[in-house]
Amino acid sequence: MSRLESIKGIGPKLKEKFNRNGIYDCFDLIRRFPSRYEVYHLTTLKDAADGVRITIEAKVTSVPKVAYIRKNFNRLSFDVTIEGRTFKVAIFNRDYLKNILDLGADIVLTGTIDRVHNSFTATTLKLKENFKNEIEPVYNVDGVSNNQMSKFVQKAIEEYGHLIEDDLPKRLITKYKLISYHDLIKIVHRPKTMKELDKITRRVKYEELFKFQFKMQYTRLKNKSKKSEIKRYDVNVLRNFIDRLPYELTNDQKKATNEIMKDIKSPYVMNRLLQGDVGSGKTVVAAITVLAVLEAGFQVAMMAPTEILAKQHHRTFSELFRDTDYKVILLTGKLSREDRQLAKDFIEYHNNVMIIGTHALFSDDIVYNNLGYVITDEQHRFGVEQRRKLREKGFNPDVLYMTATPIPRTLAISLFGDMDITTIREKPSGRQPVDTKLFTTDQLDMVYIMIDDELRKGHQIYVVTPLILESESSDLSNAQRVFSQMQKQFPNNMVGLMHSKIRQEDKDKVMEMFEQGEIDILVSTTVIEVGVDVKGATLMVVFDSERFGLSQLHQLRGRIGRSDKKSYCLLVYNDTEGAKERLEIMERTDDGFRLSEEDLRLRGPGEFFGYRQSGDMKFDQADIVRDVHILEIAKQDALDILTDKASYYDTAYQLLFKYLKNAIRRTNLD
Ligand code: ADP
Ligand code: MG
Repeated sequence: MSRLESIKGIGPKLKEKFNRNGIYDCFDLIRRFPSRYEVYHLTTLKDAADGVRITIEAKVTSVPKVAYIRKNFNRLSFDVTIEGRTFKVAIFNRDYLKNILDLGADIVLTGTIDRVHNSFTATTLKLKENFKNEIEPVYNVDGVSNNQMSKFVQKAIEEYGHLIEDDLPKRLITKYKLISYHDLIKIVHRPKTMKELDKITRRVKYEELFKFQFKMQYTRLKNKSKKSEIKRYDVNVLRNFIDRLPYELTNDQKKATNEIMKDIKSPYVMNRLLQGDVGSGKTVVAAITVLAVLEAGFQVAMMAPTEILAKQHHRTFSELFRDTDYKVILLTGKLSREDRQLAKDFIEYHNNVMIIGTHALFSDDIVYNNLGYVITDEQHRFGVEQRRKLREKGFNPDVLYMTATPIPRTLAISLFGDMDITTIREKPSGRQPVDTKLFTTDQLDMVYIMIDDELRKGHQIYVVTPLILESESSDLSNAQRVFSQMQKQFPNNMVGLMHSKIRQEDKDKVMEMFEQGEIDILVSTTVIEVGVDVKGATLMVVFDSERFGLSQLHQLRGRIGRSDKKSYCLLVYNDTEGAKERLEIMERTDDGFRLSEEDLRLRGPGEFFGYRQSGDMKFDQADIVRDVHILEIAKQDALDILTDKASYYDTAYQLLFKYLKNAIRRTNLD
């Protein structure tokens, strides 16, 4: 056993902290590598670039002054000469250094230099006599300091280091000329040279991404190999259905339909993501595949994230299946007792039925007759829990996840590595693109004029505000305030208000009134984001729009432009750094895929993590965006092993499969 407490200095408190960071035993501790390193290697002005972190020698030439800016925040400033040139140095929260820095003292500064303003912003300061060239590991372990980590890791290595085996296959180590795990462990927690650092990075990044892919691909292949019942249907029924549609399917819609149908016909379970921009026509694609499964004699369930959306889908599918033999029923948590009983009986005793609802679909008392296909709209709300419930009901249904948020290709490979992906890029022709315009907060008058214009035409309006946390000081508009403002500006119109604190019933009521045209202006936080379809709305005003991601704005914008009337999206923004440039992209393009790529470039992957649990995607050193080329190589390497049956008996892969078993057990526990 290699219990954490077996190391001197680790008690219950620290153990608890380690556990919270996913460190359960000494091997985990040894394997928790630094997430980055601070390099303190002396440089010279000639070799230093502005704005990049450097370490350099300096001489103090003025008496340091402290400015106390606010509580727990002070600035120490003084002059130095660096190679004979004078610079002003600022360093924060080091007021205690004031008395150490004598005039003429030789020091070493780490930080960034600005030669234009002759200034230096320091993060670290040492007296020259105490300085040595070094590389300091920085760990990403909450609640445990870097020093503590270094100390305990070294102890753990002394005790248990020799027991660790290299589970990365030899073949791959040789192929990429990586260092062995034993050599890695010796240097990873305290590298001495840049060359060592380079060796560490290569091995760590590859290993992290390879193991990640190995898990993902294993899961995908395993899911794919689960048997599902074969669904047989009459293709002519589908042909007739498609012929009766009031439009021709786009090429992408045809391609998507074929991909899904191939999975449905196969004797293996489908686990597929259907992604396509708002309005790309995913619903009708889904409908065709639903019809096939119903024809084959199975029930179909479709889950929506909200009551409103469930009702909308219910309407859409009832309409689409009007001329078929199939019934579409609604099952949400809000049905009356009698209606629920009726629905329940129907589901229990009839096959030719599609059931649409919220998570109520998977309540314990709902007994399906022969459920063969589950569709979930806006997949990120469909959790592991529901999947488990389905499994427990004894089904291996085909599963299709639909999402209207295009995932950048570079992220899809990791976020949805365990699924097959179908993408609709092309949009049906004939839709009028939404006209998007930017306004600063000084130009609100113009915004009101445009609102007034649309109201006069009898059109409806969305006004969207960001979610404001209690803790934020609000120069920002919150929904409540904007609501009052709108009431004042447009006293003759009906203004509605919706935000997350409003009770579900009231939300539904407000939404219904907006759908019926009884509300003219709907002021709302982003709760309207997903899927809501109100044809009469032609104008959307988004306040504080610089606070939203581009993908999110695009989602919001997708709520308008749903009829043949011209629609407008007005983005009101506070003129902060970079806001205008970023928002202007919204004016230029209507392509959700491009916008999501921009989001990724400008704001990083965090934006997209909400869509999947990201716990599996925490790496010490790899970065799923920057290192995407390694990720792709690693994926192929993983597949090469997993798709070769011989691998499973090959001793060369024994440790790798042992790792896999443990990793999977752990994620299930989470
Ligand atoms: P999504 O679910 O992808 O946002 P929908 O399926 O709701 O898109 O489709 C948006 C609208 O476009 C619907 O009103 C639908 O009837 C219509 N539509 C779908 N496919 C086509 C097509 N090929 N040609 C014209 N209109 C289409
Ligand atoms: Mg939709």
